[in-house]
Amino acid sequence: MADLNNVHELNVKGTFFCTAPDVDDGCIQCGLCPSQVPEVFGEDEDGSAYVHTQPSNEHIELVEEAILDCPVESIGKR
Ligand code: SF4
Repeated sequence: MADLNNVHELNVKGTFFCTAPDVDDGCIQCGLCPSQVPEVFGEDEDGSAYVHTQPSNEHIELVEEAILDCPVESIGKR
């Protein structure tokens, strides 16, 4: 489960977040969530994902799918 105490520093405030890349369950830069929902997820200069925009109602379902699809459970919901 994504650790709320170790979040990526570039996440915007809000419900959804990505964990920091250097923790046990951190992003492994697989590129999945930024490609699935680019309206919400971005990649930093190292390719680690973060939430650049909290999802509108239109994108929440896609974000919930990304949470399930992330191979290291690095996407979380507060
Ligand atoms: S799906 Fe998970 S591992 Fe892949 S880029 Fe997104 S947060 Fe990182």
